[in-house]
Amino acid sequence: MKPFTISFILSVCLMAGAPAYADQEGRDLRLVLQLTVDGLRADLLSRSSGKFAQGGFRYLMDNGAVFANAHYQHANTETIVGHATLATGAHPSVHGMTGNVWYDAEAGELAYNIEDPNSPILPVREQQQSGDQVDPSQLLARTQGRSPATLLAETFADKLLAYSAGRSKVFAISAKDRSAVALAGRGGKAFWMSMDSGDFVTSGWYYAAYPAWVAEWNVQRKAKTHAGSQWNLLNDRDSYLLAGQDDRPYETDLRGFGRTFPHRFGDGDNKLLFTQIIASPIGDALLADFAQSLVLSEKLGQGPAVDFLSVSFSGVDAVNHFFGPASLENEDMVLQLDRTLARLLAFVDQEVGLEHTLIVLSADHGIAELPEYMAERGLDSGRLTPDVIQEAVERISQEKFGFSDLTKFYYRPYLYLDRERIQAAGLDPDEVRETLAAGLTLEPGIHLAATRQMLESWPDRKLFEQIRNNYHPVRSGDIYIVQDPYWFNFGKGPVVGMHGSPWNYDTHVPVIFAGPGIPATRVQRRVQPADVAPTLAAILGMSPPASAQGNVLKEVFTSGPRPNP
Ligand SMILES: [Zn+2]
Repeated sequence: MKPFTISFILSVCLMAGAPAYADQEGRDLRLVLQLTVDGLRADLLSRSSGKFAQGGFRYLMDNGAVFANAHYQHANTETIVGHATLATGAHPSVHGMTGNVWYDAEAGELAYNIEDPNSPILPVREQQQSGDQVDPSQLLARTQGRSPATLLAETFADKLLAYSAGRSKVFAISAKDRSAVALAGRGGKAFWMSMDSGDFVTSGWYYAAYPAWVAEWNVQRKAKTHAGSQWNLLNDRDSYLLAGQDDRPYETDLRGFGRTFPHRFGDGDNKLLFTQIIASPIGDALLADFAQSLVLSEKLGQGPAVDFLSVSFSGVDAVNHFFGPASLENEDMVLQLDRTLARLLAFVDQEVGLEHTLIVLSADHGIAELPEYMAERGLDSGRLTPDVIQEAVERISQEKFGFSDLTKFYYRPYLYLDRERIQAAGLDPDEVRETLAAGLTLEPGIHLAATRQMLESWPDRKLFEQIRNNYHPVRSGDIYIVQDPYWFNFGKGPVVGMHGSPWNYDTHVPVIFAGPGIPATRVQRRVQPADVAPTLAAILGMSPPASAQGNVLKEVFTSGPRPNP
Protein backbone atom coordinates (compact mmCIF):
# COMPACT_ATOMS: atom_id res chain seq x y z
CA MET A 1 0.00 0.00 0.00
CA LYS A 2 1.28 3.42 -0.88
CA PRO A 3 1.97 5.90 1.88
CA PHE A 4 -0.87 8.32 2.44
CA THR A 5 0.55 11.78 2.98
CA ILE A 6 -0.53 15.35 2.42
CA SER A 7 2.14 15.92 -0.21
CA PHE A 8 0.93 12.77 -1.94
CA ILE A 9 -2.65 14.10 -2.05
CA LEU A 10 -1.41 17.43 -3.36
CA SER A 11 0.66 15.79 -6.08
CA VAL A 12 -2.32 13.71 -7.13
CA CYS A 13 -4.62 16.74 -7.20
CA LEU A 14 -2.17 18.66 -9.32
CA MET A 15 -1.76 15.91 -11.88
CA ALA A 16 -3.45 16.85 -15.14
CA GLY A 17 -6.58 14.82 -15.72
CA ALA A 18 -6.53 13.27 -12.26
CA PRO A 19 -9.76 13.24 -10.25
CA ALA A 20 -10.13 16.57 -8.56
CA TYR A 21 -12.51 15.34 -5.92
CA ALA A 22 -11.40 15.80 -2.36
CA ASP A 23 -13.83 15.35 0.50
CA GLN A 24 -14.25 17.63 3.50
CA GLU A 25 -11.35 15.96 5.32
CA GLY A 26 -9.08 16.60 2.36
CA ARG A 27 -9.13 12.98 1.28
CA ASP A 28 -8.95 12.11 -2.38
CA LEU A 29 -11.63 9.44 -2.40
CA ARG A 30 -12.32 7.81 -5.74
CA LEU A 31 -14.24 4.67 -4.90
CA VAL A 32 -16.68 3.51 -2.26
CA LEU A 33 -16.56 -0.28 -2.07
CA GLN A 34 -19.46 -1.76 -0.13
CA LEU A 35 -18.89 -5.41 0.72
CA THR A 36 -21.72 -7.53 2.07
CA VAL A 37 -21.30 -11.11 3.15
CA ASP A 38 -24.70 -12.77 3.09
CA GLY A 39 -25.37 -14.64 6.33
CA LEU A 40 -22.09 -13.69 8.02
CA ARG A 41 -23.12 -13.69 11.66
CA ALA A 42 -20.57 -11.55 13.51
CA ASP A 43 -19.05 -14.45 15.41
CA LEU A 44 -18.48 -16.50 12.25
CA LEU A 45 -15.89 -13.86 11.40
CA SER A 46 -14.26 -13.81 14.83
CA ARG A 47 -14.21 -17.63 15.06
CA SER A 48 -11.78 -17.85 12.11
CA SER A 49 -9.91 -14.58 12.54
CA GLY A 50 -6.73 -16.31 13.78
CA LYS A 51 -6.49 -18.15 10.46
CA PHE A 52 -6.98 -15.27 8.07
CA ALA A 53 -4.20 -14.37 5.64
CA GLN A 54 -2.95 -10.82 5.12
CA GLY A 55 -4.90 -8.43 2.96
CA GLY A 56 -8.44 -9.82 3.20
CA PHE A 57 -10.57 -9.62 6.35
CA ARG A 58 -7.33 -8.89 8.23
CA TYR A 59 -6.80 -5.67 6.27
CA LEU A 60 -10.23 -4.46 7.36
CA MET A 61 -9.97 -5.70 10.95
CA ASP A 62 -6.45 -4.35 11.53
CA ASN A 63 -6.81 -1.01 9.73
CA GLY A 64 -10.48 -0.24 10.08
CA ALA A 65 -13.08 0.87 12.58
CA VAL A 66 -14.62 -2.41 13.71
CA PHE A 67 -18.10 -2.21 15.20
CA ALA A 68 -18.30 -5.49 17.09
CA ASN A 69 -21.79 -5.05 18.47
CA ALA A 70 -23.96 -4.20 15.48
CA HIS A 71 -27.50 -5.59 15.45
CA TYR A 72 -30.37 -5.24 13.03
CA GLN A 73 -33.38 -3.69 14.71
CA HIS A 74 -36.02 -5.39 12.59
CA ALA A 75 -37.63 -8.75 13.27
CA ASN A 76 -37.67 -10.48 9.87
CA THR A 77 -33.94 -10.95 9.29
CA GLU A 78 -34.03 -11.98 5.63
CA THR A 79 -31.83 -11.16 2.66
CA ILE A 80 -33.77 -8.39 0.95
CA VAL A 81 -34.70 -6.83 4.28
CA GLY A 82 -31.07 -6.54 5.41
CA HIS A 83 -29.74 -5.43 2.03
CA ALA A 84 -32.43 -2.74 1.74
CA THR A 85 -31.61 -1.54 5.28
CA LEU A 86 -27.90 -1.33 4.41
CA ALA A 87 -28.74 0.54 1.21
CA THR A 88 -31.23 3.04 2.64
CA GLY A 89 -30.32 3.38 6.32
CA ALA A 90 -34.01 2.83 7.04
CA HIS A 91 -36.07 0.09 8.66
CA PRO A 92 -38.36 -2.14 6.57
CA SER A 93 -41.39 -0.23 7.86
CA VAL A 94 -39.99 2.65 5.78
CA HIS A 95 -38.12 1.02 2.87
CA GLY A 96 -41.01 -1.41 2.41
CA MET A 97 -38.95 -4.59 2.00
CA THR A 98 -40.69 -6.44 4.82
CA GLY A 99 -39.61 -9.90 3.66
CA ASN A 100 -38.32 -11.87 0.70
CA VAL A 101 -41.98 -12.52 -0.05
CA TRP A 102 -45.21 -10.75 0.87
CA TYR A 103 -48.87 -10.97 -0.03
CA ASP A 104 -49.83 -8.64 -2.85
CA ALA A 105 -53.42 -7.82 -1.92
CA GLU A 106 -54.20 -6.20 -5.27
CA ALA A 107 -53.08 -9.22 -7.26
CA GLY A 108 -54.42 -11.64 -4.66
CA GLU A 109 -51.21 -13.67 -4.56
CA LEU A 110 -47.77 -13.82 -3.01
CA ALA A 111 -45.14 -11.53 -4.54
CA TYR A 112 -41.37 -11.89 -4.65
CA ASN A 113 -39.73 -8.72 -3.35
CA ILE A 114 -38.06 -7.30 -6.49
CA GLU A 115 -40.13 -8.87 -9.22
CA ASP A 116 -41.34 -6.48 -11.91
CA PRO A 117 -43.01 -7.77 -15.08
CA ASN A 118 -42.13 -4.51 -16.82
CA SER A 119 -38.40 -5.13 -16.46
CA PRO A 120 -37.68 -8.51 -18.06
CA ILE A 121 -34.29 -10.12 -17.61
CA LEU A 122 -32.22 -9.61 -20.75
CA PRO A 123 -31.52 -12.93 -22.47
CA VAL A 124 -27.84 -13.82 -22.69
CA ARG A 125 -28.08 -16.58 -25.25
CA GLU A 126 -30.73 -18.15 -27.45
CA GLN A 127 -32.63 -20.70 -25.39
CA GLN A 128 -32.53 -19.86 -21.75
CA GLN A 129 -34.81 -22.21 -19.92
CA SER A 130 -35.66 -22.35 -16.30
CA GLY A 131 -34.03 -25.12 -14.28
CA ASP A 132 -35.26 -26.13 -10.86
CA GLN A 133 -34.07 -23.58 -8.38
CA VAL A 134 -33.33 -24.25 -4.77
CA ASP A 135 -33.51 -20.70 -3.53
CA PRO A 136 -36.85 -20.95 -1.71
CA SER A 137 -37.89 -17.35 -2.29
CA GLN A 138 -37.25 -17.46 -6.02
CA LEU A 139 -39.84 -20.20 -6.42
CA LEU A 140 -42.53 -17.69 -5.60
CA ALA A 141 -41.59 -15.16 -8.26
CA ARG A 142 -44.37 -15.08 -10.82
CA THR A 143 -42.42 -13.31 -13.52
CA GLN A 144 -38.85 -13.16 -14.73
CA GLY A 145 -38.69 -9.37 -14.45
CA ARG A 146 -36.59 -7.67 -11.76
CA SER A 147 -36.25 -4.04 -10.68
CA PRO A 148 -36.02 -1.80 -7.60
CA ALA A 149 -39.56 -0.42 -8.25
CA THR A 150 -40.87 -1.82 -4.94
CA LEU A 151 -38.08 -0.24 -2.89
CA LEU A 152 -39.75 2.71 -1.18
CA ALA A 153 -36.80 4.68 0.23
CA GLU A 154 -33.84 6.46 -1.28
CA THR A 155 -30.54 4.56 -1.23
CA PHE A 156 -27.03 5.83 -0.62
CA ALA A 157 -26.30 5.06 -4.29
CA ASP A 158 -29.16 7.30 -5.46
CA LYS A 159 -28.07 10.04 -3.10
CA LEU A 160 -24.56 9.84 -4.53
CA LEU A 161 -25.90 10.07 -8.09
CA ALA A 162 -27.94 13.14 -7.23
CA TYR A 163 -24.99 14.70 -5.37
CA SER A 164 -22.61 14.21 -8.30
CA ALA A 165 -25.20 15.14 -10.94
CA GLY A 166 -24.98 11.61 -12.27
CA ARG A 167 -21.21 11.74 -12.74
CA SER A 168 -20.54 8.96 -10.23
CA LYS A 169 -20.63 5.47 -11.66
CA VAL A 170 -22.77 3.14 -9.55
CA PHE A 171 -22.79 -0.65 -9.77
CA ALA A 172 -24.04 -3.46 -7.54
CA ILE A 173 -23.35 -7.13 -8.16
CA SER A 174 -24.10 -10.41 -6.41
CA ALA A 175 -24.96 -14.03 -7.10
CA LYS A 176 -28.46 -13.12 -5.83
CA ASP A 177 -30.72 -10.75 -7.74
CA ARG A 178 -32.17 -9.03 -4.65
CA SER A 179 -28.71 -8.48 -3.13
CA ALA A 180 -27.62 -6.58 -6.22
CA VAL A 181 -30.85 -4.72 -6.98
CA ALA A 182 -31.29 -3.20 -3.51
CA LEU A 183 -27.79 -1.71 -3.39
CA ALA A 184 -27.88 -0.28 -6.92
CA GLY A 185 -30.92 1.80 -5.97
CA ARG A 186 -32.97 3.25 -8.79
CA GLY A 187 -30.21 4.93 -10.70
CA GLY A 188 -27.32 2.45 -10.49
CA LYS A 189 -26.71 -0.69 -12.52
CA ALA A 190 -27.19 -4.20 -11.13
CA PHE A 191 -25.93 -7.61 -12.27
CA TRP A 192 -26.58 -10.98 -10.66
CA MET A 193 -25.92 -14.61 -11.48
CA SER A 194 -28.43 -16.77 -13.28
CA MET A 195 -28.89 -20.09 -11.52
CA ASP A 196 -29.77 -21.60 -14.91
CA SER A 197 -26.55 -20.74 -16.71
CA GLY A 198 -23.99 -19.20 -14.35
CA ASP A 199 -24.09 -16.05 -16.51
CA PHE A 200 -24.28 -12.57 -15.00
CA VAL A 201 -27.62 -11.11 -16.03
CA THR A 202 -29.48 -7.84 -15.69
CA SER A 203 -32.94 -6.54 -16.60
CA GLY A 204 -34.60 -4.02 -18.86
CA TRP A 205 -34.70 -1.60 -15.93
CA TYR A 206 -30.96 -1.11 -16.28
CA TYR A 207 -30.02 -1.73 -19.91
CA ALA A 208 -31.47 -2.28 -23.37
CA ALA A 209 -28.58 -4.65 -24.18
CA TYR A 210 -25.61 -6.10 -22.32
CA PRO A 211 -22.48 -3.95 -22.26
CA ALA A 212 -19.76 -5.59 -24.39
CA TRP A 213 -17.61 -6.52 -21.40
CA VAL A 214 -20.47 -8.41 -19.72
CA ALA A 215 -21.28 -10.27 -22.95
CA GLU A 216 -17.60 -11.18 -23.21
CA TRP A 217 -17.48 -12.41 -19.62
CA ASN A 218 -20.54 -14.58 -20.23
CA VAL A 219 -19.19 -16.05 -23.49
CA GLN A 220 -16.37 -17.62 -21.50
CA ARG A 221 -18.85 -19.75 -19.48
CA LYS A 222 -16.51 -19.51 -16.50
CA ALA A 223 -18.95 -21.07 -14.04
CA LYS A 224 -19.55 -24.05 -16.29
CA THR A 225 -15.84 -24.88 -16.53
CA HIS A 226 -16.10 -26.15 -12.96
CA ALA A 227 -18.56 -28.91 -13.91
CA GLY A 228 -17.18 -32.26 -12.85
CA SER A 229 -14.52 -30.77 -10.56
CA GLN A 230 -14.70 -30.52 -6.78
CA TRP A 231 -14.52 -28.30 -3.71
CA ASN A 232 -11.48 -29.25 -1.65
CA LEU A 233 -10.54 -27.98 1.79
CA LEU A 234 -8.10 -25.06 1.74
CA ASN A 235 -6.02 -26.39 4.64
CA ASP A 236 -5.21 -29.65 6.39
CA ARG A 237 -8.42 -31.15 7.74
CA ASP A 238 -6.93 -31.45 11.26
CA SER A 239 -6.31 -27.71 11.42
CA TYR A 240 -10.06 -26.91 11.41
CA LEU A 241 -11.96 -26.25 14.62
CA LEU A 242 -14.98 -27.96 13.04
CA ALA A 243 -13.11 -30.94 11.52
CA GLY A 244 -15.52 -33.24 13.34
CA GLN A 245 -18.62 -31.49 11.94
CA ASP A 246 -18.47 -32.70 8.35
CA ASP A 247 -20.72 -35.74 8.05
CA ARG A 248 -23.97 -35.09 9.87
CA PRO A 249 -27.24 -36.80 8.97
CA TYR A 250 -29.18 -33.53 8.86
CA GLU A 251 -26.97 -31.85 6.23
CA THR A 252 -28.23 -31.61 2.64
CA ASP A 253 -26.89 -33.54 -0.32
CA LEU A 254 -27.57 -31.29 -3.31
CA ARG A 255 -28.01 -33.85 -6.05
CA GLY A 256 -24.67 -35.62 -5.67
CA PHE A 257 -22.79 -32.70 -4.08
CA GLY A 258 -22.49 -34.83 -0.96
CA ARG A 259 -22.38 -34.07 2.75
CA THR A 260 -18.61 -34.44 3.14
CA PHE A 261 -15.41 -33.14 1.60
CA PRO A 262 -14.50 -33.19 -1.18
CA HIS A 263 -17.83 -31.94 -2.58
CA ARG A 264 -18.22 -32.90 -6.24
CA PHE A 265 -19.85 -30.54 -8.72
CA GLY A 266 -22.30 -32.16 -11.12
CA ASP A 267 -21.62 -32.40 -14.80
CA GLY A 268 -22.68 -29.72 -17.30
CA ASP A 269 -26.33 -30.74 -17.44
CA ASN A 270 -26.87 -31.20 -13.70
CA LYS A 271 -29.73 -28.81 -13.00
CA LEU A 272 -28.26 -27.84 -9.64
CA LEU A 273 -24.71 -27.27 -10.94
CA PHE A 274 -24.86 -23.50 -10.44
CA THR A 275 -26.54 -23.82 -7.06
CA GLN A 276 -23.70 -26.20 -6.07
CA ILE A 277 -21.18 -23.64 -7.32
CA ILE A 278 -22.79 -20.89 -5.26
CA ALA A 279 -22.67 -23.20 -2.24
CA SER A 280 -18.88 -23.49 -2.66
CA PRO A 281 -16.02 -20.94 -2.62
CA ILE A 282 -16.08 -20.93 -6.45
CA GLY A 283 -19.24 -18.79 -6.51
CA ASP A 284 -17.65 -15.95 -4.51
CA ALA A 285 -14.45 -16.22 -6.55
CA LEU A 286 -16.47 -15.87 -9.78
CA LEU A 287 -18.20 -12.81 -8.35
CA ALA A 288 -14.83 -11.24 -7.47
CA ASP A 289 -13.60 -12.02 -10.96
CA PHE A 290 -16.67 -10.30 -12.41
CA ALA A 291 -16.02 -7.35 -10.09
CA GLN A 292 -12.50 -7.00 -11.47
CA SER A 293 -13.75 -7.00 -15.06
CA LEU A 294 -16.26 -4.35 -14.03
CA VAL A 295 -13.67 -2.09 -12.38
CA LEU A 296 -11.42 -2.26 -15.45
CA SER A 297 -14.12 -1.99 -18.12
CA GLU A 298 -16.13 0.75 -16.47
CA LYS A 299 -12.95 2.52 -15.30
CA LEU A 300 -14.14 2.81 -11.72
CA GLY A 301 -12.15 5.23 -9.64
CA GLN A 302 -10.88 7.08 -12.72
CA GLY A 303 -13.69 9.57 -13.24
CA PRO A 304 -14.52 13.09 -12.09
CA ALA A 305 -16.58 11.95 -9.07
CA VAL A 306 -16.52 9.21 -6.44
CA ASP A 307 -17.72 5.88 -7.86
CA PHE A 308 -19.64 3.19 -5.99
CA LEU A 309 -19.33 -0.56 -6.24
CA SER A 310 -21.34 -2.94 -4.10
CA VAL A 311 -20.31 -6.59 -4.02
CA SER A 312 -22.52 -8.99 -2.08
CA PHE A 313 -21.06 -12.48 -1.56
CA SER A 314 -23.64 -15.27 -1.23
CA GLY A 315 -21.50 -18.33 -0.47
CA VAL A 316 -21.56 -18.23 3.33
CA ASP A 317 -25.36 -18.00 3.33
CA ALA A 318 -25.65 -20.95 0.94
CA VAL A 319 -23.52 -23.25 3.11
CA ASN A 320 -25.42 -22.05 6.18
CA HIS A 321 -28.66 -23.16 4.53
CA PHE A 322 -27.43 -26.54 3.31
CA PHE A 323 -24.90 -27.55 5.99
CA GLY A 324 -25.46 -25.14 8.92
CA PRO A 325 -23.17 -22.50 10.43
CA ALA A 326 -21.39 -24.98 12.74
CA SER A 327 -20.21 -27.10 9.82
CA LEU A 328 -16.77 -27.76 8.37
CA GLU A 329 -18.21 -26.33 5.14
CA ASN A 330 -18.87 -22.99 6.84
CA GLU A 331 -15.40 -22.81 8.37
CA ASP A 332 -13.71 -23.53 5.05
CA MET A 333 -16.04 -21.16 3.16
CA VAL A 334 -15.13 -18.23 5.44
CA LEU A 335 -11.39 -18.99 5.08
CA GLN A 336 -11.63 -19.24 1.30
CA LEU A 337 -13.70 -16.05 1.11
CA ASP A 338 -10.87 -14.38 3.05
CA ARG A 339 -8.45 -15.36 0.27
CA THR A 340 -10.89 -14.18 -2.42
CA LEU A 341 -11.28 -10.88 -0.60
CA ALA A 342 -7.50 -10.49 -0.31
CA ARG A 343 -7.15 -10.94 -4.08
CA LEU A 344 -9.95 -8.47 -4.75
CA LEU A 345 -8.49 -5.83 -2.42
CA ALA A 346 -5.01 -6.30 -3.92
CA PHE A 347 -6.56 -5.69 -7.33
CA VAL A 348 -8.40 -2.57 -6.11
CA ASP A 349 -5.15 -1.35 -4.56
CA GLN A 350 -3.38 -1.74 -7.88
CA GLU A 351 -6.12 -0.19 -10.04
CA VAL A 352 -7.56 2.52 -7.78
CA GLY A 353 -5.37 2.52 -4.68
CA LEU A 354 -6.65 1.56 -1.25
CA GLU A 355 -5.65 5.07 -0.17
CA HIS A 356 -8.44 6.27 -2.49
CA THR A 357 -10.96 3.60 -1.52
CA LEU A 358 -13.49 3.75 1.27
CA ILE A 359 -14.54 0.22 2.21
CA VAL A 360 -17.46 -0.84 4.36
CA LEU A 361 -18.20 -4.45 5.17
CA SER A 362 -21.34 -5.84 6.75
CA ALA A 363 -23.85 -8.68 6.43
CA ASP A 364 -27.57 -8.76 5.65
CA HIS A 365 -28.41 -11.05 8.57
CA GLY A 366 -26.88 -13.78 10.73
CA ILE A 367 -27.93 -17.40 10.98
CA ALA A 368 -29.40 -19.82 13.53
CA GLU A 369 -27.62 -23.01 14.47
CA LEU A 370 -29.46 -26.06 13.14
CA PRO A 371 -32.17 -27.28 15.54
CA GLU A 372 -30.67 -30.81 15.57
CA TYR A 373 -27.24 -29.42 16.46
CA MET A 374 -28.70 -27.42 19.36
CA ALA A 375 -30.75 -30.42 20.50
CA GLU A 376 -27.47 -32.39 20.67
CA ARG A 377 -26.32 -29.61 23.02
CA GLY A 378 -29.37 -29.99 25.20
CA LEU A 379 -31.28 -26.88 24.14
CA ASP A 380 -34.95 -26.70 23.29
CA SER A 381 -35.21 -26.49 19.51
CA GLY A 382 -37.29 -27.80 16.66
CA ARG A 383 -38.82 -27.25 13.26
CA LEU A 384 -42.01 -25.34 12.54
CA THR A 385 -43.22 -25.89 9.01
CA PRO A 386 -46.00 -23.89 7.31
CA ASP A 387 -48.33 -26.89 7.44
CA VAL A 388 -47.88 -27.15 11.22
CA ILE A 389 -48.85 -23.48 11.54
CA GLN A 390 -51.77 -23.76 9.08
CA GLU A 391 -53.05 -26.81 10.92
CA ALA A 392 -52.94 -24.91 14.23
CA VAL A 393 -54.77 -21.96 12.66
CA GLU A 394 -57.53 -24.21 11.30
CA ARG A 395 -57.85 -26.03 14.62
CA ILE A 396 -58.11 -22.80 16.61
CA SER A 397 -60.64 -21.20 14.22
CA GLN A 398 -62.85 -24.31 14.23
CA GLU A 399 -62.69 -24.54 17.99
CA LYS A 400 -63.37 -20.87 18.71
CA PHE A 401 -65.58 -19.79 15.81
CA GLY A 402 -66.87 -22.95 14.17
CA PHE A 403 -65.29 -21.93 10.85
CA SER A 404 -62.11 -22.90 9.08
CA ASP A 405 -60.52 -20.97 6.18
CA LEU A 406 -60.53 -17.62 7.96
CA THR A 407 -57.02 -16.88 6.69
CA LYS A 408 -55.78 -16.17 3.21
CA PHE A 409 -52.09 -16.94 3.43
CA TYR A 410 -49.36 -17.83 5.79
CA TYR A 411 -45.92 -16.94 4.54
CA ARG A 412 -43.34 -16.55 7.27
CA PRO A 413 -43.51 -14.49 9.31
CA TYR A 414 -46.95 -13.11 8.43
CA LEU A 415 -50.39 -14.65 8.64
CA TYR A 416 -52.94 -12.80 6.46
CA LEU A 417 -56.64 -12.93 7.34
CA ASP A 418 -59.34 -13.46 4.72
CA ARG A 419 -61.34 -10.31 5.40
CA GLU A 420 -64.20 -11.10 2.99
CA ARG A 421 -64.72 -14.50 4.48
CA ILE A 422 -64.63 -13.14 8.03
CA GLN A 423 -67.21 -10.55 7.07
CA ALA A 424 -69.41 -13.11 5.30
CA ALA A 425 -69.29 -15.27 8.44
CA GLY A 426 -70.47 -12.28 10.47
CA LEU A 427 -67.32 -12.27 12.62
CA ASP A 428 -65.40 -9.33 14.01
CA PRO A 429 -61.95 -9.24 12.37
CA ASP A 430 -60.34 -7.75 15.49
CA GLU A 431 -61.66 -10.60 17.57
CA VAL A 432 -60.55 -13.24 15.04
CA ARG A 433 -57.08 -11.72 15.01
CA GLU A 434 -56.77 -11.60 18.80
CA THR A 435 -58.17 -15.10 19.27
CA LEU A 436 -55.93 -16.68 16.64
CA ALA A 437 -52.88 -14.87 17.99
CA ALA A 438 -53.59 -15.90 21.58
CA GLY A 439 -54.08 -19.52 20.50
CA LEU A 440 -50.98 -19.60 18.29
CA THR A 441 -48.79 -18.17 21.05
CA LEU A 442 -49.54 -21.33 23.08
CA GLU A 443 -48.33 -23.68 20.31
CA PRO A 444 -44.94 -25.42 20.70
CA GLY A 445 -42.07 -23.49 19.11
CA ILE A 446 -44.06 -20.27 18.77
CA HIS A 447 -42.73 -17.55 21.02
CA LEU A 448 -45.31 -14.92 20.17
CA ALA A 449 -48.01 -14.25 17.61
CA ALA A 450 -48.31 -10.47 17.48
CA THR A 451 -51.30 -8.69 15.96
CA ARG A 452 -51.47 -5.27 14.37
CA GLN A 453 -53.41 -4.03 17.40
CA MET A 454 -50.74 -5.28 19.80
CA LEU A 455 -48.13 -3.29 17.90
CA GLU A 456 -50.02 -0.12 18.67
CA SER A 457 -50.74 -0.80 22.33
CA TRP A 458 -47.92 -3.00 23.61
CA PRO A 459 -45.35 -1.48 25.97
CA ASP A 460 -42.21 -0.54 24.16
CA ARG A 461 -40.07 -3.65 24.51
CA LYS A 462 -37.19 -4.68 22.25
CA LEU A 463 -39.03 -7.48 20.47
CA PHE A 464 -42.02 -5.29 19.76
CA GLU A 465 -39.77 -2.56 18.47
CA GLN A 466 -38.29 -5.08 16.04
CA ILE A 467 -41.76 -6.22 14.89
CA ARG A 468 -42.88 -2.62 14.60
CA ASN A 469 -39.80 -1.73 12.56
CA ASN A 470 -40.88 -4.51 10.21
CA TYR A 471 -44.47 -3.36 9.95
CA HIS A 472 -45.68 -1.88 6.68
CA PRO A 473 -49.45 -1.27 6.56
CA VAL A 474 -49.92 -2.59 3.01
CA ARG A 475 -47.37 -5.39 2.82
CA SER A 476 -47.42 -6.78 6.36
CA GLY A 477 -49.89 -9.43 7.41
CA ASP A 478 -52.36 -9.37 10.29
CA ILE A 479 -50.36 -11.52 12.68
CA TYR A 480 -46.57 -11.70 12.97
CA ILE A 481 -45.44 -15.14 14.14
CA VAL A 482 -42.16 -15.21 16.09
CA GLN A 483 -40.60 -18.62 16.61
CA ASP A 484 -38.83 -19.57 19.83
CA PRO A 485 -35.02 -19.35 19.73
CA TYR A 486 -33.53 -22.23 17.68
CA TRP A 487 -36.90 -23.17 16.25
CA PHE A 488 -36.63 -23.31 12.50
CA ASN A 489 -39.59 -21.57 10.85
CA PHE A 490 -39.59 -22.73 7.27
CA GLY A 491 -40.90 -25.35 4.85
CA LYS A 492 -39.52 -28.86 4.38
CA GLY A 493 -36.94 -29.47 1.69
CA PRO A 494 -33.24 -29.13 0.99
CA VAL A 495 -32.88 -25.95 3.04
CA VAL A 496 -32.00 -27.22 6.53
CA GLY A 497 -30.60 -24.03 8.08
CA MET A 498 -32.43 -20.73 8.38
CA HIS A 499 -32.31 -17.14 9.54
CA GLY A 500 -35.26 -14.74 9.72
CA SER A 501 -35.83 -14.52 13.48
CA PRO A 502 -35.48 -11.44 15.71
CA TRP A 503 -33.02 -13.27 18.01
CA ASN A 504 -29.41 -12.20 18.49
CA TYR A 505 -27.90 -14.92 16.29
CA ASP A 506 -29.85 -13.49 13.34
CA THR A 507 -29.41 -9.78 14.08
CA HIS A 508 -25.70 -9.70 15.02
CA VAL A 509 -23.51 -8.81 12.02
CA PRO A 510 -20.12 -7.19 11.48
CA VAL A 511 -19.86 -3.53 10.51
CA ILE A 512 -16.35 -2.45 9.54
CA PHE A 513 -15.26 0.77 7.86
CA ALA A 514 -11.75 1.08 6.41
CA GLY A 515 -10.08 3.65 4.24
CA PRO A 516 -8.07 6.85 4.24
CA GLY A 517 -8.42 8.78 7.47
CA ILE A 518 -10.45 6.10 9.24
CA PRO A 519 -8.77 5.16 12.51
CA ALA A 520 -8.05 1.57 13.46
CA THR A 521 -10.38 1.09 16.39
CA ARG A 522 -12.69 -1.45 17.96
CA VAL A 523 -16.06 -0.20 19.16
CA GLN A 524 -18.31 -2.15 21.52
CA ARG A 525 -21.27 0.19 21.84
CA ARG A 526 -24.44 -1.12 20.24
CA VAL A 527 -24.91 0.19 16.72
CA GLN A 528 -27.02 -0.97 13.75
CA PRO A 529 -26.50 -1.64 10.05
CA ALA A 530 -28.95 1.18 9.35
CA ASP A 531 -26.06 3.44 10.45
CA VAL A 532 -23.99 2.38 7.43
CA ALA A 533 -25.67 4.50 4.73
CA PRO A 534 -25.80 7.73 6.82
CA THR A 535 -22.14 7.20 7.77
CA LEU A 536 -21.02 6.68 4.17
CA ALA A 537 -22.93 9.84 3.26
CA ALA A 538 -21.34 11.78 6.11
CA ILE A 539 -17.83 10.74 5.09
CA LEU A 540 -18.50 12.15 1.62
CA GLY A 541 -20.03 15.29 3.09
CA MET A 542 -23.47 14.42 1.79
CA SER A 543 -26.78 14.53 3.62
CA PRO A 544 -28.06 11.06 4.52
CA PRO A 545 -30.48 9.26 2.17
CA ALA A 546 -33.89 10.91 2.47
CA SER A 547 -35.57 8.39 4.77
CA ALA A 548 -32.54 7.07 6.65
CA GLN A 549 -33.19 6.40 10.32
CA GLY A 550 -29.70 5.28 11.37
CA ASN A 551 -27.07 7.54 12.88
CA VAL A 552 -23.62 8.62 11.78
CA LEU A 553 -20.97 6.44 13.43
CA LYS A 554 -18.70 9.10 14.86
CA GLU A 555 -15.82 6.66 15.47
CA VAL A 556 -14.97 6.61 11.75
CA PHE A 557 -13.89 10.23 11.93
CA THR A 558 -10.39 11.07 13.06
CA SER A 559 -10.25 13.55 15.87
CA GLY A 560 -6.77 14.76 14.90
CA PRO A 561 -5.95 18.01 13.09
CA ARG A 562 -7.24 18.48 9.56
CA PRO A 563 -4.72 18.29 6.76
CA ASN A 564 -3.60 21.73 5.68
CA PRO A 565 -4.45 22.27 2.02
ZN1 LIG B 1 -30.34 -16.92 3.40
